[in-house]
Amino acid sequence: MGRLWRVSGPLVIAEDMKGSQVYEVVEIGEEGLVGEIIGLEEDRAVIQAHEDTQGLMVGERVRGTGTILTAELGPGIVGSIYDGLQKSLTDLMKTDLFIKRGAKAFALPRDRKWRFSPKVNVGDTVNEGDIIGTVPETNLIEHRIMVPIGTKGVVKQVRRGDFTVEEPVVLVEQAGQIKELTMMQKWPVRKPRPYRQRFASSRLLVTGMRIIDYMFPLALGGKAALPGGFGTGKTVALQQLARWAQTQLNIYVGCGERGNEMADVLYSFRQLKDPATGKFLQEKEVFIANTSNMPVVAREASIFVGITLAEYFRDMGYDILLVADSTSRWAEAMREIGGRLEEMPGEEGFPAYLGSRLSSFYERAGVVECLGSPSRRGSITVAGAVSPPGADFSEPVTQNTLRIVDALYSLDVSLANRRHFPAINWLTSYSLYTDAVEEWWSKVGPEWAETRATALKLLQQEAELEEIVRLVGPEALPEGDKLLLLTTRMIREDFLVQNAYNEVDTYSPPARAHLMLKTIIKFYELAQKMLGSGASTAEIRSSPVIYKISRMKYIPEDVSEQRIKELWSEMEASLTTRKGEV
Ligand code: ADP
Ligand code: MG
Repeated sequence: MGRLWRVSGPLVIAEDMKGSQVYEVVEIGEEGLVGEIIGLEEDRAVIQAHEDTQGLMVGERVRGTGTILTAELGPGIVGSIYDGLQKSLTDLMKTDLFIKRGAKAFALPRDRKWRFSPKVNVGDTVNEGDIIGTVPETNLIEHRIMVPIGTKGVVKQVRRGDFTVEEPVVLVEQAGQIKELTMMQKWPVRKPRPYRQRFASSRLLVTGMRIIDYMFPLALGGKAALPGGFGTGKTVALQQLARWAQTQLNIYVGCGERGNEMADVLYSFRQLKDPATGKFLQEKEVFIANTSNMPVVAREASIFVGITLAEYFRDMGYDILLVADSTSRWAEAMREIGGRLEEMPGEEGFPAYLGSRLSSFYERAGVVECLGSPSRRGSITVAGAVSPPGADFSEPVTQNTLRIVDALYSLDVSLANRRHFPAINWLTSYSLYTDAVEEWWSKVGPEWAETRATALKLLQQEAELEEIVRLVGPEALPEGDKLLLLTTRMIREDFLVQNAYNEVDTYSPPARAHLMLKTIIKFYELAQKMLGSGASTAEIRSSPVIYKISRMKYIPEDVSEQRIKELWSEMEASLTTRKGEV
């Protein structure tokens, strides 16, 4: 037990702390505020408090807990809303309107009983990661109870029925001792959970966002960043991902952003249904909120809590998506702590370890073969928003993030000003997963690779023409270029632009995206032939099919294939070469 020696904002120095270790969790003062030791010098411990330290007095006690910051893992996580230290906000809010400092709230409900169906028998030998039973946690998630890391042995007793997370469900004999396994385990959040083997990503993460799925695909197990200035649509894009990504579980970490946005997400998840299963989205979601009105100091931990929950569900054999809004606010929290520590600052005052801390988060993404039997694969895909001040991508958080991620969705202020949403710039964004998902795509949309390449090339040509158009005006262009500009406008407005608030357009299945873009390319081919036979771009522009193409995105899903087929017949009949007239 130590004593408080100095308080400086979120930083607390305690003395008489012999025997403590770095990253040990401590309880500070009479209220028992949670903190973590981040430095030790002889018997003095430098502690990062995770709660507001106002009013703490020199001489108050500081108690080491002997453990490091851990997450509670077990049934009850899915659908929860947690703060940055995995305290249940729903529970805290039940007891008090305002969350008190030092308030204790368990991550997993202690009184709730879960139906445990064992998957092992007495006499079986079990190992780390083996699935010993299952619990129907929500309508969408079967919780798989696993043997904790570090445990193996022979099953001595198995129970079946309804239990709380603290009651033993399986007894295992390990080295002559009986171990009681419950449905709950704990894991230190800063330490990646082990797996058997890592694999390269090869399956598309279906997001329902056309510019992502089609143009810059994100693979399951991938790492992506969305940098963008204020109001460019980072939050909306991450919310859309968390809503529609076809993963089994999504984790939304609201980190330092506005509380009303978090409320928005929470509300919408209670209303919206998963397109694949028809069940409420809330049944496959976990929320971690450290919004701008909550203590800055728990912000640094919140991302690690999130990724630890993701790994735990990955270990069950699920595909998980974690979105973090925003990693810049996270980095700013580190800068604040670093500043207090009087560490030698790196660029723009950020700590020198900014890059390695960012990668210690992103590198926990990936596709793995999980530990234990039955053999299974799971994945974590990570997407983080970056909010560079003044939309200047040369700043340290953006630059360090770019070195780590393999997909970049670059959000553009000028597109947002033109209300082109998602404001993802097609000239500066990229995905290194394009080749990896080609096989996946070839089954859903044959000629995906060619269609994608054609569209991107046309957009590239449009950008090159822009300079000329600025100088001489569009009317001076040759007919071929005019037609090209007409087509790229269709690609941008009728394909890339996607309204998050339109009931149909909010989620665009890959097959439909493919059909839509193929329609525009088909239009271009037919129109080029018309030009060749003497028609003018003005004539083509007056064709009624153009309006119909612009409405494709709003056709209800169940009739879309049929209607788009009809549109093709109409295009072929009306966009014809002018045989007799020439
Ligand atoms: P940021 O988080 O980058 O500051 P937001 O995500 O809050 O920006 O987006 C700002 C606004 O842009 C939203 O309130 C919304 O009006 C608009 N917006 C962004 N993305 C879309 C979209 N896909 N569809 C329609 N509107 C959008
Ligand atoms: Mg935002």
